[in-house]
Amino acid sequence: MSSVSALRRFDAISPAPPDAILGLTEAFVADDRTQKMNLSVGVYKDADGVTPILRCVKAAEQRILETESSKGYLSIDGLPDYRDAVRELVFGDLIDSDRIAVVQTPGGTGAVRVAADFVADQCAGAQVWLPNPTWANHNAIMAAAGLSVESYRYLSADRRGLDFDAVIEDLQTKPNPGDAILLHACCHNPTGVDPSAEQWSHIAEVIADRHLLPILDFAYQGFGDGLMEDTAGLRAVLSRSDEALVCTSFSKNFGLYSERVGAVSVVASSTETASAALSQVKRLVRSNYSNPPRHGAAIVATVLNDADLRSDWQVELEAMRCRILDLRQRFVSGMDATDCDQDFSFLLGQKGMFSFSGLNRMQVDELRVQHGIYIVDSGRINVAGMSEDRMGFLCDAVASVL
Ligand code: PMP
Repeated sequence: MSSVSALRRFDAISPAPPDAILGLTEAFVADDRTQKMNLSVGVYKDADGVTPILRCVKAAEQRILETESSKGYLSIDGLPDYRDAVRELVFGDLIDSDRIAVVQTPGGTGAVRVAADFVADQCAGAQVWLPNPTWANHNAIMAAAGLSVESYRYLSADRRGLDFDAVIEDLQTKPNPGDAILLHACCHNPTGVDPSAEQWSHIAEVIADRHLLPILDFAYQGFGDGLMEDTAGLRAVLSRSDEALVCTSFSKNFGLYSERVGAVSVVASSTETASAALSQVKRLVRSNYSNPPRHGAAIVATVLNDADLRSDWQVELEAMRCRILDLRQRFVSGMDATDCDQDFSFLLGQKGMFSFSGLNRMQVDELRVQHGIYIVDSGRINVAGMSEDRMGFLCDAVASVL
């Protein structure tokens, strides 16, 4: 009879701290107050507080159910129809499609991770520069890929707009040629602060002049100014750099959060280089998750490759975008109507789901403890988590902690 080993490796393991944002959601779920409100996690909610399944997604799923004939593995780089659709949606006819290697990934997080692995594997010595602040997971992903992580200044001192001079100064002086620089292609998370068209073209110039490798994280295409409009930053960068990594997510714009649908696109200077890069990305993926999940990508491919479903998707996406804009406006005028003397109109210049509200840690704590309103410590608010009929409650609560 074998005896139980006395060597215990796991007994000394201490618990990891909860993820700052997902941990808040756990606390939110455990909160039994009925008036509670979760403005922390980045998920779109409709007027009924539900994260809806889009009509076009349901229709595509119906078709898939009827026609799918196998659950065999996908290839390492994913569904060909999906990859072609991503290439067309993100890049249009901007560059020769043979120069773009698209690999389907598990969500935008998977895309960022594969991009990070690729830089660590193929760009010897490259550091990666992240805007400060950025999506918290960027730091963790880059570090997990073994990259050395640095940051460039992004936000102005009043935390309401872009410190453009600081961005340019840092990009011009801090990274070494060959380093990678991560940019949010639109709807900067967590601030909602995006560069203007003119600022993008200046940033693109510096990136090219300093021979930096742009990594464009494009998790919110269609949530800023529109599907095409949101490619403006990417277009500016790619008009000056012939190499880039672009990370796509369909979590938000298709509402496919739990299906894990994303893609990483490697833009290379020639067809041959793109094909070599693709083979290296596939090698990295093979030893990570081997090949991606089918269902979400099949939905996206079905919708994007069918004229009717695609136009319905665009209508639904535009409705989400406009509703977020409307909620922003309602919040700003709601705050205006309270007796607090703070002007929140700067939120109107910010793009996408998120905004830096300017609320400090103490105010955020008070909102949670006193009112059951959950906001991340930085003061980042998910505007898409607000609701029309509870706007008065929210504005009164915010005014009471100012
Ligand atoms: N990048 C950014 C900037 C994000 O905000 C997010 C989602 N919060 C992601 C990537 C990851 O997206 P996904 O949920 O598809 O993994």
